Amino acid sequence: MNKILDSKYPYLSNYYSTAIAENRLFHSIIMYGSNIYMQYATSLELARQLNCLEDGREDCQCQNCRWIRENRHPAVMTISKIDNKTDSSKTVISEEQINQVLNNIAGSSDYHRVFIFCDAEIIKPSNEEKNDYNEFKTAGFNTPQGEDDKKIWYPNGINSKCFSSVGANAMLKSIEEPPSNVTFIFLTTNKDDMLQTIVSRSQIFYVPGIKFTKYDTSFFEKYFENYPYFKKESALDFSQCLLNYQTEKGLESEYIIDCIQYYLIQLLKINVKNTVIYNKILKDIKKAEESKRMLKAYIKEQIIYEDLAFYFAK
Ligand SMILES: [Zn+2]
Repeated sequence: MNKILDSKYPYLSNYYSTAIAENRLFHSIIMYGSNIYMQYATSLELARQLNCLEDGREDCQCQNCRWIRENRHPAVMTISKIDNKTDSSKTVISEEQINQVLNNIAGSSDYHRVFIFCDAEIIKPSNEEKNDYNEFKTAGFNTPQGEDDKKIWYPNGINSKCFSSVGANAMLKSIEEPPSNVTFIFLTTNKDDMLQTIVSRSQIFYVPGIKFTKYDTSFFEKYFENYPYFKKESALDFSQCLLNYQTEKGLESEYIIDCIQYYLIQLLKINVKNTVIYNKILKDIKKAEESKRMLKAYIKEQIIYEDLAFYFAK
């Protein structure tokens, strides 16, 4: 796939390549996480892989790859309150837009049609927003709308309020019984804000934000002072500490558990010779992995953190 996305999201890249090769990609995909720009780049890359006329290599110059990179391919459309719009509503993805999508997929096509749903605005970027934009460009793609020195197209996560209610209902039917060669992708920061009817029909991927590629362990380290002895009495405290930090910083629970795993792996490295501790750490790392699977099954974060804490205290 794309080397920037490959290095950032090896798991996703691998998954998509295999799913495309084996023809078992879901018709509806939700990406969630803090960096919508990278989700958008990942979606375009996926659309490129699905439509490439050659072997999908990164520098392929076939017409489909070029058009998708330039963001002007007729079969790869961004649907937001400001993109692909023919009516005058400014605040939502309208019924008319959804009808256009439905008309489009009613006919057949040689292309694999990809509809990327997000929220978007044209903004005067802050430095941070400009960095997000530059990183997106580095991945080799263009935004759906022109930009100049002062203004850029900036994507935001979609939530249930971004759709007109009639439009959302009309779309659900297609997600349920999709025509072949059509993929819907929804970009969001919080999957819980999405229409639950869409969530239940979609394959869900967490796309970590680049801002948090460093693992922060300082906020929970004190609970590990006497590790491998982890006090049972402090288990609830520990889980509350994780929850508070996550909320305060606006982080994803997957990231919190990644931080714990990272911390445990560091402990593993310094305890190679102590078999008892080493085995306990290994078990705890495995348990953290299980916690991540529980998150995917929509079990409440608090329950997962408590379960993890009591496991550590065993
Ligand atoms: Zn190509």
